[in-house]
Amino acid sequence: MLETLDQVQRRDLGLDALLEEKGQTPGELLELRERLGRLQTELEDAEARYSELRQEVGRSELELKSLDERRKNAASSALEASSAKEASQYQNQEMQFTTRYQELEEDTLPLIERLEGLEDEVNRLRGDIEDLEPELERIAQAEVDRVADVKARIGTLESERAEVARGVDPSLLKQYEQVRRARRGVGLVEIIDNQRCGGCNVRLPIHVIQKARGGQGVTRCPSCGRILWAKDA
Ligand SMILES: [Zn+2]
Repeated sequence: MLETLDQVQRRDLGLDALLEEKGQTPGELLELRERLGRLQTELEDAEARYSELRQEVGRSELELKSLDERRKNAASSALEASSAKEASQYQNQEMQFTTRYQELEEDTLPLIERLEGLEDEVNRLRGDIEDLEPELERIAQAEVDRVADVKARIGTLESERAEVARGVDPSLLKQYEQVRRARRGVGLVEIIDNQRCGGCNVRLPIHVIQKARGGQGVTRCPSCGRILWAKDA
């Protein structure tokens, strides 16, 4: 009976290992996902700065256009002036608009340069993301396949376990399952050197060993509660 329970436990431990294996996502995949996430954040940031600066440059360009128009109007008004005094007033206006235009143009040029730099940055980041995506997809697919394979092995082992468990007395199986849950995995242990519990290593009382060796009913370690197996009995 305990021989069969041991066969059940072997499968349970195998299942524990497979479940752990299933959860172990490859470091490479995690790293790539993290890298992609970082690049996407950087891209969003660069795009936001680009659009903000683009608007600022746009406003300057509108202002430049308006100053240019006003300068041209002043110039033509100067030509059509009816007196020398009026002509000189328009010429003054024309000079003022010209100066303001030049100043604003000078201020706008560095903004345009920065805008071009940001555009390069946005394009570089988009390129990096595009380069990374196929690699990530390949590794993610490999991970999907790996998990599917582990799941298939779990399925096979589970039906094997169910099959073997049918050969174990239900009340023994229930006790074993309870101890296994409480004791992190191992519910059935051998008696070591005919004196110690193979689970918690405590020295067992003689009557406990005798009961286990007698093979009558279920004998459990008085210390850890695991089911004791006198294998050589
Ligand atoms: Zn014990």
